[in-house]
Amino acid sequence: MILIENTMLNGKGTDILIHENKIVRIGSDLQSETTGDMQVINGQGTAVLSSLFNGHTHSPMVLLRGFGDDLPLHQWLTDCIWPVEGQMTEEDYLMGYRLAFLEMIKSGTGFFNEMYMFPRLALKVLEEIPMKGLVNYPIIDGLDWESGKKQSEDCELFFKETIPPEGVQLGIAAHSIYANSESSLCWIRDFTSENNLKIHIHLSETEKEVEDCKAAHGGMSPVEYLHSLDFLSDRVLAAHCVWLSNSDMEILARMAVTVIHNPVSNMKLATGRAFPYAQLKERGVPILLGTDGAASNNNLDLFEEMKVAALLQKHQSGDPTVMTAGEIFHIASKGAADIFGTGGGDIREGAAADLILVDLDRPEMVPLTNITSNLVYSTSGNCVRTLISGGRILMENRMFEGEDEIRNKASVCAARLVGETL
Ligand SMILES: [Zn+2]
Repeated sequence: MILIENTMLNGKGTDILIHENKIVRIGSDLQSETTGDMQVINGQGTAVLSSLFNGHTHSPMVLLRGFGDDLPLHQWLTDCIWPVEGQMTEEDYLMGYRLAFLEMIKSGTGFFNEMYMFPRLALKVLEEIPMKGLVNYPIIDGLDWESGKKQSEDCELFFKETIPPEGVQLGIAAHSIYANSESSLCWIRDFTSENNLKIHIHLSETEKEVEDCKAAHGGMSPVEYLHSLDFLSDRVLAAHCVWLSNSDMEILARMAVTVIHNPVSNMKLATGRAFPYAQLKERGVPILLGTDGAASNNNLDLFEEMKVAALLQKHQSGDPTVMTAGEIFHIASKGAADIFGTGGGDIREGAAADLILVDLDRPEMVPLTNITSNLVYSTSGNCVRTLISGGRILMENRMFEGEDEIRNKASVCAARLVGETL
């Protein structure tokens, strides 16, 4: 059992009792009610909140942080990202996953939706660092189904032999309509439907993706093209969704597709348009927030992402009432928990014990007129003092066991990778 003493919930001092993976009691002076072995956390000077959900990321890309910044998208991919990715070894992937998980935990993220190579290595690291997440087997065949077929065979094997750690879900990632053949998209559609799996895909990120799709598929947009393949459903989580027409949004709403907003990556890569938040919200489309990979962000801090998301919507619409702090915090916490079905996302008895203690003894947290406003607009992920996931303490008082070793080894991997291609 874990007892958090004297933290603050909804403006009031309280204790929180955690048993196994759930919050079992919220109240005052719980110490006197409990007996037996108990780990006590002093919550003085903190507020307790749900940990955050990163709706779209490519974890090991943290190793490419700061490499090839400020280049045009195509040059960035062909000259920097793809050549380095081609040289990454198993050790690089392991260190990339470790560094990303460390960074997410230190900035308050307890759950992530992954899209990257070697999901088995992600699961191996999740045995060491028990975050929650959706780990997706990636299918990307470069429009060549011969290569896609091999991936699909290994994918079937992966699902046959894998028992994920507690709190970890498995799904499939299709990279995009421009990097996946039609046959691979249809295979993914059928396999995920038979096995009731989620699909994680990049969709309508750039104007070029839309124009190329229209040219290749008889005038259909990427959303219309996927719809024509019967690919879209409430199991699909589509990242970016920036270049959408009204008819695309109608289809996404009708098919109950979840869309994932990645504002920092979109702005850094000059996507040239803002995510149509108000129009998607009006149609009731479920929305997540993600950082994308660290190579196009350059961090995994969802506090920063919440702020940028809200500012971008206000700036673009000319309406400061669009996307309030409360709305974006909900998208990054309870809204996401409901989409991923974790049973958490808020602090109540019976909820999953996925929570953070944020430090209120910081200058940017004073005054505490509106804590949600401070969380979204004033502070950063550095305010997170303690993170508990599934009833396990992953960080306490900003101490993460083995942090120095992860940082040092990941630096060595990154220096070698980037050095080799310069
Ligand atoms: Zn991405």
